[in-house]
Amino acid sequence: MNRREFLETVAAAAVAPTLAWQDAGEWGTPVFDVHFHLRPQPPGNIAHLDGAGIAKANLLTRGNVAQQVQAVQDRAPGRFIWFNSYDVTRPDAEQVLTQAVKSGAQGFGEMKFHVAADGPELRRMYALAADLKVPILIHFQEVDHVPNEGTWSTGFAKTFESILKAYPRTTFIGHADAFWANVSEDYHNEAAYPSGPVRRGGVTDRLLGDYPNLFGDLSANSGNNAMSRDSEFTADFLKRHQDKLLFGSDCSCTDGHGGGVGQTNNPAAARIAGKCVARETLSLLKRSASPAAFQKIVWGNAHRLLRIPA
Ligand SMILES: [Zn+2]
Ligand SMILES: [Zn+2]
Repeated sequence: MNRREFLETVAAAAVAPTLAWQDAGEWGTPVFDVHFHLRPQPPGNIAHLDGAGIAKANLLTRGNVAQQVQAVQDRAPGRFIWFNSYDVTRPDAEQVLTQAVKSGAQGFGEMKFHVAADGPELRRMYALAADLKVPILIHFQEVDHVPNEGTWSTGFAKTFESILKAYPRTTFIGHADAFWANVSEDYHNEAAYPSGPVRRGGVTDRLLGDYPNLFGDLSANSGNNAMSRDSEFTADFLKRHQDKLLFGSDCSCTDGHGGGVGQTNNPAAARIAGKCVARETLSLLKRSASPAAFQKIVWGNAHRLLRIPA
């Protein structure tokens, strides 16, 4: 080995650990988490990714956070992109979110506000997302987790099809209880997380099939619950919508192994208390989908949708 080769070998060894996150790792493919809430300190963000075997994540943020996001990105180059949200009832919402996109945000979300899904507040966000060519990630929920929690982006089952029709240039990413409970045709807002076999022909299943501008974010107990109800349905659903589904965690555990989680703010989600939602859902998807479909759902689709290099 000559001196140049020796130096190259040393340099390669020095950078090897920082490249490890891009490896296929324990899931057999690198994983992108489309639904990861920004944590206050950079190490907390990275610890969850490393612990759960996740390569990259989309930081969901609210308000003026560009510097905070930059600190996380500096600590782990290439591993984080971000979405931004802002109170849609405020008159300056369009201005603030336009500025966020100019500062590097690649989408709006998560949008979680006490307004109607087809109301004027969100309609102007749908139009703005189309103008700025960024997706919008929406939390749909009609059933309280705790008394008087309130509802969020209401009317999904009844009105959202009209929105998909009215805003064909907007890319929508659906998430949360009402989005996922409506995979079953017999759902009428009885429970946050319905159980038992899925009756075919649910609103969400139909909309994902019919509208190219709708995608599904599999995060949280809601996504996990929907995919845990009926293994035959799940296998078929993942196969049919393999180009429209995105893995996300919405996990609040500290270490990617379920540490520090009580789910005390959501007693209805007790089935995943003490577990890492990312791990639970990745395991579920891996055993329910073909290797090719799994790779799209946990990695490929997010890169295509967000136009970022894989
Ligand atoms: Zn949410
Ligand atoms: Zn976790």
